[in-house]
Amino acid sequence: MPFSSLGLTEPLQRAASDWNYLEVTPVQAAVIPAILEGRDVRAAAQTGSGKTAAFALPLLQRLSSGPRERGRLVRALILVPTRELAAQIGAAIRHFGRYLPAPLKTLVVYGGVSINPQMMALGGGADVIVATPGRLLDLIGHNAVSLAAVSTLVLDEADRLFALGFAEELGRILALLPARRQSLLFSATFPPAVQAFAEGLLHDPLRIEIAAGPATTPAILQRAIEIDAPRRTQLLRHLIETNPWPRVLVFVATKYATEHVAEKLRRAGLAATALHGELSQGARTQALADFKAAKARVLVATDVAARGLDIADLPVVVNYDLPRSPVDYVHRIGRTGRAGASGAAVSFISAETDAHFRLIEKRQGLRLDREQVAGFEPVEIAPPLAPGGGGVKGRRKSKKDKLREAAAGIKAVEPVPPLNPAPPANAFAWHRRLPRGRP
Ligand code: AMP
Repeated sequence: MPFSSLGLTEPLQRAASDWNYLEVTPVQAAVIPAILEGRDVRAAAQTGSGKTAAFALPLLQRLSSGPRERGRLVRALILVPTRELAAQIGAAIRHFGRYLPAPLKTLVVYGGVSINPQMMALGGGADVIVATPGRLLDLIGHNAVSLAAVSTLVLDEADRLFALGFAEELGRILALLPARRQSLLFSATFPPAVQAFAEGLLHDPLRIEIAAGPATTPAILQRAIEIDAPRRTQLLRHLIETNPWPRVLVFVATKYATEHVAEKLRRAGLAATALHGELSQGARTQALADFKAAKARVLVATDVAARGLDIADLPVVVNYDLPRSPVDYVHRIGRTGRAGASGAAVSFISAETDAHFRLIEKRQGLRLDREQVAGFEPVEIAPPLAPGGGGVKGRRKSKKDKLREAAAGIKAVEPVPPLNPAPPANAFAWHRRLPRGRP
């Protein structure tokens, strides 16, 4: 379906076509007409489905035809869990609005950077604010912004907002919004806390579920490679050197590991950079810019830093350390295969993490063949499964996880839909397929 069939004005269509959006994605086809009509929306959609344009384009159309506000007032509020996602959405909105006859003011506000420039920028109000909840409340506390005139609220990645413990902040923000408004909620998954929240927030919403399938989720070839944990950096280096990957995103578990692995790769002559939550915002932005501009071929990141990243042309994601939860696994591998391109997700499985990976597979309803790379065959033996499946490393929740879940009222991780139940058997030159089981 072409963009011209959705009722969007010419300036918005032109901006979409500048980014080579020719056909609408399913979430866009479903949601754009409903938002233009003023309806609430509850959409189950993953990153990669085109959901940003699905809410941004009709939002801009409605704002550009409505009256301007003055003073500290804001017309549309988009709440997101991370700074990177905020920056990304802000950039998309500025792009989509570029040909509108009267320019709209869009501001992006998040924590971790000085509040003063954000307060200054808010002088005279804004048409759109893209914000993380904590910083928005700080700005409200400083009287820099008022939500009394918000006509549209968007919650993006609502499950992440809850998982990161923002439930209380969301409640405080909602209390400041006018009762009459349009509300749009996007979430990859709907754990009970998000479901309950959506019920209270939305009025007669359009409910859509974009099933993760070939139409929306491009083919992500998932692979599992067995490797002894101490040899993972060597294997990673080997894979990067022997595959024509222009960019590689590597996930590790800790801030220390991002620096350590990046440093080792650099010493081997590969342009690698680290990204983690404790870097200053300037350093994070620089690391991402280097990666996007291909100055760094490898980005070694923690989950928290990589959440919501949209990197065009990312052929491969490597799970050097496995993610803690199946939901994080889906988020990680969704960084590749964006916008219809195909991608690969490679997970390193060691004797220690084998049982944990099986749990991730089970939640996804898939079972990947274990592969070994010639010269990197593992020699360590997997520990036997404890009776009842308990006591396996990586399977227990940390204290922090439990606290966050308790804060969010989340009882258990939702099952996630399969992304690639039957991975094709083509694949790379670098592995040889071995029968399942250890030599
Ligand atoms: P999102 O789910 O909003 O993060 O979008 C995922 C990616 O798909 C981004 O790189 C978008 O620029 C791209 N995209 C969104 N809609 C379309 C479309 N209709 N045609 C082509 N690419 C799109």
